[in-house]
Amino acid sequence: TFFTFEGPEGSGKSTQINLLAEELIDLGHEVVVTREPGGTPIGEEIRHLLIHSSSGKDMSPEAELLLFAAARAQLVRELILPSLEAGKVVICDRFLDSTTVYQGAARSIASDPVSYINQFAVGPVTPDLTFILDVPHEESMRRVKRRATDVPDRMEEENADFYKKVRDGYLLLAGSMPERFHVVDGTRELEANREEILKTVLENL
Ligand code: C5P
Repeated sequence: TFFTFEGPEGSGKSTQINLLAEELIDLGHEVVVTREPGGTPIGEEIRHLLIHSSSGKDMSPEAELLLFAAARAQLVRELILPSLEAGKVVICDRFLDSTTVYQGAARSIASDPVSYINQFAVGPVTPDLTFILDVPHEESMRRVKRRATDVPDRMEEENADFYKKVRDGYLLLAGSMPERFHVVDGTRELEANREEILKTVLENL
């Protein structure tokens, strides 16, 4: 079974993913946790280029789209598909919906190429269930600023309008496919979300 987590930076995705993975392991499941961009040696190099490299500031939205898709294509073939075929539970921090929202809605690439490239990258793999940790854009900006580290991250330079498009993009997407998406209020306390996510996952295993 394949679960993905989506949401803006600072929405608490990685915390919830780690909590969920621990509980599923305790219940006896074999669990693979991964992230994108990244998750494979090739993908982690692409991640560096996309997010931390100083040359990233000159990157066109089209090149960005293709690099995210390349990292995802590798992750699917190298890790996700073989793990699903082996009967494991796979949990991925971001997946194709991030591209629909970040490169599509926020960077304004037309939906036809985004959806075609997404489909090509993921092949036969679709998430069974996707959690969106929803946080108002002002709050996610505040959280990103608070967490600022020494590692350069060009995405942290984005303005309020960008974050708003990301949030609205996620909610629109969730509304268009309610059977796959489960929206969680990312401003609630951690424990309440942990319980809600676990309950929903167990219903879908
Ligand atoms: O929050 P996380 O570490 O998963 O995100 C990595 C960075 O890549 C974030 O700054 C996010 O905005 C950006 N990103 C993006 N397009 C994607 C996936 C992530 O711009 N498709």
